[in-house]
Amino acid sequence: MARSAKPGLSHENVAGLYLAQQRCYLEGACSEVRDDGEASMTEKLKATIVPVTPFEQNCTVLWCEETMKGAVVDPGGDLDRIEQVIAKHGVQLEKILLTHGHLDHAGGAAELAEKTGVPIEGPEAEETFWLDCIAEQGARWGLPGGRNVRPDRWLNDGDTVRVGNLKFDVIHCPGHTPGHVVFFHEPSRLAIVGDVLFKGSIGRTDFPRGDHAALIASITQKLWPLGDDVTFVPGHGPVSTFGEERRTNPFVGDAVVARGTSA
Ligand SMILES: [Zn+2]
Repeated sequence: MARSAKPGLSHENVAGLYLAQQRCYLEGACSEVRDDGEASMTEKLKATIVPVTPFEQNCTVLWCEETMKGAVVDPGGDLDRIEQVIAKHGVQLEKILLTHGHLDHAGGAAELAEKTGVPIEGPEAEETFWLDCIAEQGARWGLPGGRNVRPDRWLNDGDTVRVGNLKFDVIHCPGHTPGHVVFFHEPSRLAIVGDVLFKGSIGRTDFPRGDHAALIASITQKLWPLGDDVTFVPGHGPVSTFGEERRTNPFVGDAVVARGTSA
């Protein structure tokens, strides 16, 4: 339930990602890759991608290295694997963040919140109808176990989310779903974009209340201005940068948008 095209997905695509030029590292779930050369940054974000559910959704465990307080973004399922990553890194879970209400992103949030006692923040309130039918989505997609969920805090465009000493900007990016949000950590130049944008693709808009024009506008008017150097973690598949997508993405690349052929 993710992207327009369907590139080959594999754990290898997202495991062992090593971003030497970024002031953070992303450690694949199956990897021990670390970037110890980046210890001098003032605001320390660390993150690990955990592909979850048969959709291989990129759940992200991120934490503040100063406080070891962390958040799980989009715990769609496979909570045992997410919990293993949290335990392995000694992260003290502070909150759960949701980009949007699709099953593979939010299906495990209610159970994880119940088990850990931490609050859920996001998405934007327009997402209510999706969050209210997660169990139904599970039946439809053959993925039982997901539970409907309501966050403790709805997020709006321009809001701030804190994790330990880290501060994330909230960017409302409708189109794939109406209440989809993106989390941006400016000091690390890292965005977690859910199913808005992928390496080489964009989110599907053929679901109820999907809006192709709104999605293109979200990407080109709200994400691109953050900078070409921003690395993003998509909801599925490998990471990329906004600059790379502006050069090569067949849906939202600069040349495609200029020609007006993105539809
Ligand atoms: Zn989705």
